[in-house]
Amino acid sequence: MGWVTDFAPSTAELNACIDCGLCLPVCPTYRATGDESASPRGRIAAMRAVDRRLVEVDDRFADVMGLCLQCRACEVACPSLVQFGRLMEGARAEVAAQLPDWRTIATRTVFGRAIASRSAVVLLSWVVGAVQRMHLAAALPGAAGKTAALRTIPLPVPTTAGHEWLPDGEPIGTVGFLAGCVMDQWYSDVHTAVIQVLRTAGYRVVSPRHQTCCGALAAHEGAAYDAARMAAQNVEAFEGYDLIVVDSAGCSAHMKGYGHWTEGGADLASRVVDANEFVASLIAAGLLPRLAGETPIAIQDPCHLRHAQRIVEEPREILRAAGFEPIETDPAGMCCGAAGAYQLDHPEMSEFLGMKKAVQIEATGIDIVASANPGCEMQLRTYLDDGIVVTHPIELYWDAISRG
Ligand code: SF4
Ligand code: SF4
Repeated sequence: MGWVTDFAPSTAELNACIDCGLCLPVCPTYRATGDESASPRGRIAAMRAVDRRLVEVDDRFADVMGLCLQCRACEVACPSLVQFGRLMEGARAEVAAQLPDWRTIATRTVFGRAIASRSAVVLLSWVVGAVQRMHLAAALPGAAGKTAALRTIPLPVPTTAGHEWLPDGEPIGTVGFLAGCVMDQWYSDVHTAVIQVLRTAGYRVVSPRHQTCCGALAAHEGAAYDAARMAAQNVEAFEGYDLIVVDSAGCSAHMKGYGHWTEGGADLASRVVDANEFVASLIAAGLLPRLAGETPIAIQDPCHLRHAQRIVEEPREILRAAGFEPIETDPAGMCCGAAGAYQLDHPEMSEFLGMKKAVQIEATGIDIVASANPGCEMQLRTYLDDGIVVTHPIELYWDAISRG
C-alpha cells in the first residue's frame, strides 16, 4: 500500500541518506541497544522499504519508528543533511493513519485536541494544582515521584495569551510571545522571567489571544493533521509580528519548521526566535546588563535547542551574564529520555537515559541545573536527588538582574 498521508517522507528525502553510518554513534537508542534497526540509518532503511512498496506499514515498522526519541542528534552528525526529524514525523503520521488503535485515538485526543484548547488546559491545571495542594498524589501508588517532577501550579492558574506588557520608557520594538499549552500554567515563572527581561531591554511584549499550542507534541506523536491545523492557527495569530519569542526549546524548534506544516508557515518560521538566542543577542548588544560572579552551575542542553536549532553557546552566555560559571555535564549532548510521551510508551529506555543524565549531573556535585525545556526539566526532576534544583537559564538571569 505504501504511504497514505500528505506528510509521508518523500523518495528524494529518503535518498538523501548515503548509508554512511556516521549518525550511529550519536544515536541514544543505537548506543543503548547496538541494534541497526534502532539507529537512524536502520529507520531510514525501513522507511525506504515502505516507500518502494517492499513492505507494509505494520506493527514491526511501528515499533522501529516508536523507539526513536526524535532527539535529532543524528541530523547534526549527518554529512548529507538528512532532515531526520521531518522524516520521522512523516513516518509517525503514517503509522497513526494506517494502524489506528486505542493509542492513536488517545494521542489524537490529548495532543491533537485537548492541549490545543486553552479552556481544557486551564481546567486540567486547576485539577492538578488542587491535587498538589491536597497532597492526594502521595496516596496513589507510583504517582508521588511523577507529580514531584512538576512545579507547583499557581492557583488561580495564570494565562498569558491575550495580554501585553509595556517597558518603562518608549518601546524600542514589539515582539509576539508564544504562550504555549501547559507551559502557560505549569511554567508560568519562566514566562514571567522572559517577559520581564524583554521589557527591561525596552520591548513591548504581546501574547495574541487567538494563538494555540505550537503542535510539536501532535507532530511527534503522529497526529499530523492536528499539528497542521495548529500551525495554521498560529500563522494567523502571529500575523504582523516581526519577531515571535518562544521560551520552550521544543516549541521554538517545531515552529522553525512550520514551512512543512502549513501555507505561510515558512514566513512565520523565519520570524521565530528561541528566547535563549534572543536574550543572548540583547546582552551582547548591551541592551541588557552583565553581572559579575562565577557561581558554578550545571547545564543540560535540551535536544531541541542543541541539535534541532544548534543553540549551544547562548544559554551559557546568559548564565555567565547572570553571574554563573556553567559546568558541562554531557559534552555529547545525549537525550535525557523525556521526549514528549516517550516516558509512557518506552518507560525502560526513558528511565535508562534519565538515570544516566542524573548520574552525570550529580557527579559535578552542584545542586542547581539550568535547562531550557519543560519536558527535560520534568525528566531531570524525576531522576535527580531531591536537593537538586532545576530551572530555566532566563529565570536565573531575571532573578539576578532584578536583585541588581
Ligand atoms: S532522532 Fe535521536 S533517537 Fe531518533 S534516530 Fe536520530 S539520534 Fe536516534
Ligand atoms: S549520517 Fe546521514 S547519510 Fe549517513 S547514514 Fe546517517 S542519516 Fe544516512
